[in-house]
Amino acid sequence: MGKVALVTGASRGIGRSIALGLARDGFDLALNDIDRQISDLHEVAAEVQAIGRRSLLVTADVRDKTAVHGMVGQAIEGLGQVDVLVNNAGILTSARIEDITEAQWDDVFAVNAKGVFLVTQAVLPHMRRRRSGRIVNIASIGGKRGGPGQAHYCATKAAVLEFTRVLAMELEDSGITANSVCPGIIMTEMGKVNLGDQASIEKWEAATALRRIGQPDDIAGAVCFFASDASAFITGQSLNVCGGVIFDGG
Ligand code: NAP
Repeated sequence: MGKVALVTGASRGIGRSIALGLARDGFDLALNDIDRQISDLHEVAAEVQAIGRRSLLVTADVRDKTAVHGMVGQAIEGLGQVDVLVNNAGILTSARIEDITEAQWDDVFAVNAKGVFLVTQAVLPHMRRRRSGRIVNIASIGGKRGGPGQAHYCATKAAVLEFTRVLAMELEDSGITANSVCPGIIMTEMGKVNLGDQASIEKWEAATALRRIGQPDDIAGAVCFFASDASAFITGQSLNVCGGVIFDGG
């Protein structure tokens, strides 16, 4: 039996690219998204199967603990195991701090921070029993250097980065690693919040050392690395995949 990866928010954008990248690397896929994305999720499932790997749809709202435990149970029962968890599902809203509503603050924390915690907690007993596993959390460069108009979103991503560090510490010699990937500005539905017009695109291209906007496959490459044997000695780290918008240590 091949290895199995569970990817949240896999119906489109970065999650879809991660799922297809992992399928090309030989993983079978448990594909999660929220119920309303079911038809796009079916298309990704078909693409995984076209690559020659098995796929299983495990819809659930990552904010809902009961649904999350059901999703992980379905994935293990349906595909036999979960070797890799990619916590990718996320939402973004923009508002300056004086204008962020309590509902916006709570929503973005519920999906981006609590969702990562709930799915991780649900998968850990299974990975610990097998003494093997890879957890890859999708954070953001916004969690490291902030971004005006998105304080609530950036705070969730800083939370994901710290959660991942502590997770790696607590995992010690469990055989499980935990790392974060920090995308820069990536052309997806969410990315369009920051790339709404040509002027914004050009501004971000100019602010990026490699002078282009990132694509979902750029992120998939880093996640596939963390899912592979090549990263066996790396845990508790974060990798910026941003074309040089920010630089390590500066
Ligand atoms: P996207 O195109 O909006 O895709 C995110 C997916 O997650 C959507 O299908 C979304 O469904 C789903 N989702 C939302 N809430 C969910 C929930 N409660 N349970 C399960 N699934 C849920 O976003 P993306 O750009 O691919 O982003 C993927 C990840 O990368 C996110 O964590 C994001 O914060 C991070 N990131 C993105 C960028 C960028 O520039 N794009 C930069 C840095 C970090 P709905 O659309 O129906 O809500």
